[in-house]
Amino acid sequence: MVKINSYLYNVGFDNSFMNVSNIVSEYKKNNPKSNIVSLGVGDVSRPIVKSVIKEMHKAVDDLSNMKTFKGYGASYGYDFLKSKILEVEYNNSFSLNEIYISNGTKTDVSNILELFDINSKVLICDPLYPIYKDGATCLNRDIYYTTTDDNFIPLVPKEKYDIIYLCSPNNPTGVCYTYKELECWVKYALKNNSVILYDNVYSAFIESKDAVKSIYEIKDARKVAIEFKSFSKNASFTGVRCSYYIIPNDIYEGINELWKRRTINRFNGSDYIAQVGAFKTFDESSQKEIKRNINYYKYNSKLLRNSFTSMGFEFYGGIDSPFIWVKINKNMKSMEYFEFLLNKLNIIVIPGIVFGKKGDKYFRVSALAPRKSIIEAIERMKKYYEKEK
Ligand code: PLP
Repeated sequence: MVKINSYLYNVGFDNSFMNVSNIVSEYKKNNPKSNIVSLGVGDVSRPIVKSVIKEMHKAVDDLSNMKTFKGYGASYGYDFLKSKILEVEYNNSFSLNEIYISNGTKTDVSNILELFDINSKVLICDPLYPIYKDGATCLNRDIYYTTTDDNFIPLVPKEKYDIIYLCSPNNPTGVCYTYKELECWVKYALKNNSVILYDNVYSAFIESKDAVKSIYEIKDARKVAIEFKSFSKNASFTGVRCSYYIIPNDIYEGINELWKRRTINRFNGSDYIAQVGAFKTFDESSQKEIKRNINYYKYNSKLLRNSFTSMGFEFYGGIDSPFIWVKINKNMKSMEYFEFLLNKLNIIVIPGIVFGKKGDKYFRVSALAPRKSIIEAIERMKKYYEKEK
């Protein structure tokens, strides 16, 4: 019989998004009349803005004409989009050689491990977006954990690790680094010859003055950090798929020539329609519409934060991020509490254990849900906790 990649058996299931969604499906099957509201998934609920959709329609038409047809695109992305991102997001401080367009940060944060030696020690924080751990597990990398301080800022370890995953604004905790907090990690990486993989897909939600918007704001970060960003959450591209990342030449001589050898053999590029749409997100009128969507989610966040405050919950995030990380106020672990909310109140949240053992006293709610769901969930919880008093 054929031998399967046995590392796949090591990818966790019990405490995974997949298991949570199976439990919900089973519940819906057994209770077809239930009125479930979901604050669970981190998917967006606002549609792509009109000006971007219009541009993508034009891109579809391009494909129907001999003169404008596009076949295989550049594996690293079209220059028109790369130049725009470099100009708007990075003030042209990187070259076209250092940026890649791709089909999603989820893909990118796992694939990037192929750039580094297979014996590299990978450091992950607990709690954190579980894809880093699962991606590294599929590739059989050595994974180590660090924990956080009381405000969920990851603590810099004493030992040396090679690859460090950081996420800010953070999923699931919703917290965002200040300059000082992130500077500690950059200094650690410089001292230990490590590389930081900086997942920054929620940067559009940042509003605090002292929050860092890009890791390259930190002095010398371009020597040690790869930054990942995506159009998924700001421009509602979760179904379109378009992301980008920067690998600075300063990390290692010839690093981009090597990564291009790998990429051209493993990827034929993000699609033309997605890249045309992504380009359009940067123009002024699209930005206005996009900001309206972000403000919609931010208002959801505010409603959630106010309600958790009035119900007496301890919580984090929801200011620079669409996620709120809430401490469970019953003597229950997170899976138990998740099932309690599902069964008793028909509300879906994500149990903290999905993000790591240290998350087991928490649950995550997402402000990316439709307003109606937010209001309904809040009302149900308030009613329940009111009665409990
Ligand atoms: N990184 C983080 C921290 C996320 O929360 C998500 C999606 O929820 C992703 C990456 C995936 O982004 P993309 O849609 O670009 O693959």
